[in-house]
Formats: sequence, structure tokens, C-alpha cells
Amino acid sequence: MIVALPPDLRTALPRLAASAWPREACGLLVGRATADGVAVTGLAPSRNLAAENDAFEIDTAMRLALQRRLRGRGEGVVGVWHSHPAGAPVPSARDAEGASEGGLAWLITSGEETTAWLALGDGAGFAPARLVA
Ligand SMILES: [Zn+2]
Repeated sequence: MIVALPPDLRTALPRLAASAWPREACGLLVGRATADGVAVTGLAPSRNLAAENDAFEIDTAMRLALQRRLRGRGEGVVGVWHSHPAGAPVPSARDAEGASEGGLAWLITSGEETTAWLALGDGAGFAPARLVA
């Protein structure tokens, strides 16, 4: 999978991560499907509903409202992003458990580095994806 992320959104991710520190920042990726992946056109930040500092949980009501707004515009929710304030930008065991929805792109940022992944679904974890501008 190839995840196309425009430069302005790529630089916005570390800023969003820093604003949530020491907690994880999280949100949804808005965009559209391409021949070999997704093209991201927006980062929709969510409140982090997780109790722990090293976890995230996206606000389902925010997602539903976002999907309603996007309906009929040729764009949709294509993935999830979140930050690892104190770790490498690779999926944690908790991320793998939480990734029940296959086919979504995941972006993980440590602040310094952002990586892309394809969620395989049903707790099967992730395959590495390629992040391009
Ligand atoms: Zn994580």
C-alpha cells in the first residue's frame, strides 16, 4: 500500500503530537482511494478517550459526524493516525489488538519520524506501507 501525504499534513503531524504530549495524539485520515493505496487530504484530530498515557481511543461520535460531513464528496475516512510520545513509530502490541478494521492506513509519528502501515484487520496486525508526498 502507498500512502500519499502532502508535505503540509506531514509537518502538521509532529505539531499535533507535541500539543498532546505526554499523551498520545490521535485522529482520522480523510482522503480517497488510489490505484495502489490512499491519498490523504486531511487529518481530523480526535479527543483521545483512552485512560492511559500510552494508548489512544478515537471518539466514535466524532467519526460518525465526520463521515456524515464527507458523504457525497468523494472522500471518506481512509485511516487512523496517532503519536508515540515515548517510543518508536512502530505499531505496539496494543495497536495490533485495537486494529480490528482491516484495509485502513495507519500513520504513527514519534514527532521526529512518521511511518505508514496497512491494518490487516481482526487483530492480525500490520503490513508496512510506503509513505510518499
Ligand atoms: Zn500506538
